[in-house]
Amino acid sequence: MIKGLRSLSTLLMPKVNGKERIHTSLRGIRNLLSADGGQCVACLAPDARFGLCDPCRHDLPVNHWHCRCCALPLAFAAEDTLCGQCLQAPPPFSRVIAPWRYRFPVDGMIQRYKYNGQRAFARPLIHDLAERVANNLEAAPDQRPDLLVASPMHPARLRRRGFNQAADIAEQVSKHAGIPWTTRLVTRNRRTRPQRGLDREQRLANLRGIFQVNATPPPRLAIIDDVVTTGATARSLTEALIKAGAEDVQVWALARTPG
Ligand SMILES: [Zn+2]
Ligand SMILES: [Zn+2]
Repeated sequence: MIKGLRSLSTLLMPKVNGKERIHTSLRGIRNLLSADGGQCVACLAPDARFGLCDPCRHDLPVNHWHCRCCALPLAFAAEDTLCGQCLQAPPPFSRVIAPWRYRFPVDGMIQRYKYNGQRAFARPLIHDLAERVANNLEAAPDQRPDLLVASPMHPARLRRRGFNQAADIAEQVSKHAGIPWTTRLVTRNRRTRPQRGLDREQRLANLRGIFQVNATPPPRLAIIDDVVTTGATARSLTEALIKAGAEDVQVWALARTPG
């Protein structure tokens, strides 16, 4: 059972930034494609597969029961169910794929990756997302997107953080699924207040007009992000892509918050 991530502090990965970007990124891809994971990032067991041993992988909070459209976790077992919000205001995207719930230890793994640049923590999540997506596409090839669009980060935030985790995830999923990816199709015009604590109207107002689409997109797209929180960003970005000519937009993320 995963008790904590503290023991992992000995496994710091170099921060992905500046000149190191390409080098680290290539190394990341090599690591990701190799099943030889070395130590488990959660319990330090030596026989990890893509960074997690089997018992720790088994402990991850899988998002089993969820809204069939926005992947909002449901508290009860139900298939093919829409959440209240999707019933009330159907989202513009066709579906969200988010294999995990954003709670312990997935929340801590993503935070270490995102804010500290410790890719080792995200590696098992990204690998399993890529595998899940590849399996889905094999079963339903008509849902294959033409292009993966990394959820854009404002340039000032990108400079401060050193890397855009959505672009990093898109790059890895692209390798696995054989679908091209881009960071150039959409840019973020301005920074936004954090979405948390805002009601639905405020969230939508906060995001209005922030995405600029720079070219005509291909018909079928998948937006790649680390976490889908309220779904407001995904809605706003999808609307911008559809306005620019996209016909079908999915959202693929590592995790979904409970709401
Ligand atoms: Zn383990
Ligand atoms: Zn929903």
